[in-house]
Parts: sequence; structure tokens; C-alpha cells
Amino acid sequence: MDKKSVGLSGSFKGNTAPKSFSKNPIKGTKFTIAISSAKGGVGKSTFAMNFALALKAVGQKVGILDADIYGPSLPKMMSINEKPKSLDGKSMEPINQYGIQCMSIGFLVDKDTPMIWRGPMVTSAIKTFTQKVLWKDLDFIVVDMPPGTGDSQLTFAQEIKVDGAIIVSTPQEIALLDVVRGINMFDKLKVPILGLVDNMSFFETDEGKKYNIFGEGGVEKVAKNYKKEFLGKIPINIDLRIASDAGKPLVEKSPDHKISEIFIEIATKIKGSFL
Ligand code: ADP
Repeated sequence: MDKKSVGLSGSFKGNTAPKSFSKNPIKGTKFTIAISSAKGGVGKSTFAMNFALALKAVGQKVGILDADIYGPSLPKMMSINEKPKSLDGKSMEPINQYGIQCMSIGFLVDKDTPMIWRGPMVTSAIKTFTQKVLWKDLDFIVVDMPPGTGDSQLTFAQEIKVDGAIIVSTPQEIALLDVVRGINMFDKLKVPILGLVDNMSFFETDEGKKYNIFGEGGVEKVAKNYKKEFLGKIPINIDLRIASDAGKPLVEKSPDHKISEIFIEIATKIKGSFL
């Protein structure tokens, strides 16, 4: 009888080989920092824009990639209404605003169009943004990630070399559970967590009285429990909100504002951990 070996065909074997991810650095930058939150509405984009401008304020060349595919905020927060140019039909030029190179899915779609994309389309959009944008000579790209721990975050962390992540949260109990999920995701994906930020931490009246509207110290406690750095508290502040809505983030509009100083302090800390 023929000695026929029973087994997997060559092509099938190929398919079952363990998938190894080659992490590509974003071209044109030295370091990539992801700004992440496990929930929406906690101020992740506000943090990302002001943090990027704070890095610029401490002498760095900075780009912002708005990878929040489902809810891009960059065009409004940075007051950009133009479409990126392509000189060769294949790659895109980032748009310069306030001395920052910017790219957002929001530049390419109508602002009232919902992004009802499935996973593979999200993956391909992220690849385009990270490999086909002509970022020039940057020290840092700040990536405004979509909230949560789903497809786009995975694509990012598996395919792109992310040098560090900052997790932004508000201090309510219900948000903290998600912070732990975020920490576990980055730990699993071996993306170093640069630290945690407590946004909308408290409200301070003109008389200096503080109200811990969402509870006190929660994010700092999570940071301690999981041995992560705690980067700081950003209070609820009306000037911060108004500046974002008006399309000129507070750090750019009023660099001497006491809230801007918090962002600049955090940016100085992060810059110091890379350079
Ligand atoms: P996310 O990106 O997490 O969805 P955003 O950055 O879009 O959140 O913020 C949601 C809303 O909260 C925006 O209107 C923003 O201006 C406001 N906001 C964020 N952080 C603060 C803060 N510390 N004080 C006041 N308003 C804030």
C-alpha cells in the first residue's frame, strides 16, 4: 500500500502558522504616543490636542493623528476646514495648523456623515493614515485613539510601533473599571503605558472652593494599584471647553492659563522620558 502521509496541505499549514505582527513605525517621526480612553466623552481629544500643543511649547516638532474613526474631533478643535492635498495621487500631505502637522479622517468625509464602517475598512484607514501621510521631520506624533478596547485599538497596537500610551479618564467608579481594561489591553499588547491622567478631576469656584463632582482620587488609586505613573489632575474648567469649541485649544490660545500650565508640566515630563 502507498505510504500516504495524512496531514495538512502546504497552503493550509501556511495559514495556521502563528501570526506574527511586524510593527511599522510611522514614517517621519521619532516617537508615537497614543492617547487612549476606555470610554467616550472623558476628554481624550481635548487632552490630545492640548498635550500636542504643550509638546510644541516645550520645543518639540509635533503631529497629531486623529485616529478616532467613528468620531473625529480634530477638524473642529483645531479649526481646519480644508482637505489634505496629494501631490502624487498616492500619499497625503498633513495640514499645518498652529505649528502642528495634522491628519484626520474628518478631513476626508462630510462632517455629518456617520462612520458606519466595518473592521477591515477601519484597519485600512488606519494603515493609510500611518503609512501614506507625509509627516515631516517630527519628534512626536500624538495619536487620538478611538475610545474603548476594540478593533481600531488592536490594529493600531499590532501593526504600528507605538512608543507609549497615555490613558485619560474621569474619576467616577464606572469609568475606572474601563481604565483597568485599558491598562490590561496595553500591557497585553506590550505597549508601554506612560501614565494615567485624571480629567474633569474637580471643579474650583472663583473663591477657591473645590468640589469633587465625580469623586476623588480614583484614577490615582488605579495608577498606584497597577504600578503605573500618575501624570496629573485636570480640573473641570470652562475656558478649556470654550477654547476647544472655538477651534483654538487653550494651550495655544492662553499658554499662561493655569490649566495650560498643567498640560505643559505633563508634556515636559513625557518629553523627559524620551529624550
Ligand atoms: P472624548 O474625546 O473623550 O470623547 P472630548 O475631548 O471630546 O472627549 O470632550 C468632551 C467634552 O468635554 C467637550 O465638549 C470638551 O470641551 C469637554 N471637556 C473635556 N475636558 C474638560 C475639562 N477638563 N473641563 C471642561 N470641559 C472639558
